[in-house]
Amino acid sequence: MGDDGQSRGISCAVYPGSFDPITFGHVNIVKRALKIFDRIIVAVAINTSKHGTFTIEERVDMMEDVFRGDANVEVASFSGLLVDYVRTVGARAILRGIRTVTDFDYEFQMALANKSLDPDVEQVFMMTEGKYLYHSSSIIKEIVSLGGAVHEMLPPIVEKRLSEKLRGRGTGS
Ligand code: ADP
Repeated sequence: MGDDGQSRGISCAVYPGSFDPITFGHVNIVKRALKIFDRIIVAVAINTSKHGTFTIEERVDMMEDVFRGDANVEVASFSGLLVDYVRTVGARAILRGIRTVTDFDYEFQMALANKSLDPDVEQVFMMTEGKYLYHSSSIIKEIVSLGGAVHEMLPPIVEKRLSEKLRGRGTGS
């Protein structure tokens, strides 16, 4: 192993995304990635051209709640180029999850773009665990708005806030 200063010390990855809202599929990626990295920064990307269901502050707030017990997980938000943010926080990798071939297509293109922007930032992709395959924030929002149960897909606090947001009330649990 070369002594490049990064091969020692804390290894940190940035897990960027919309997280609108965070699901158990996202949480699963973070928990598994903690077996590889010492620290994960889960970072909400601020996209001014995309209006989400939750504000950036609401998403960060829910994520802080979800990861409260995990000392090695930090929640943040960022704007601008992801590779710049990764450098700013002193991370060495970008973490992303993959569910389907469609995800792969998109992630592959983004990975090549990021690599051309900053060849020093590595990108790590983790395959979803089977039960999270069809868990996407947009499908879950659709289910909630139609009155379906999503206990197995969302942390309780997120389920409550989403239900309030989309149906104007809590789940009663
Ligand atoms: P995006 O960043 O593309 O807006 P999300 O915020 O929903 O998408 O997700 C952030 C990252 O987590 C992406 O890499 C996405 O593929 C991944 N991801 C989302 N849901 C799951 C899941 N159920 N299993 C594995 N990875 C997931």
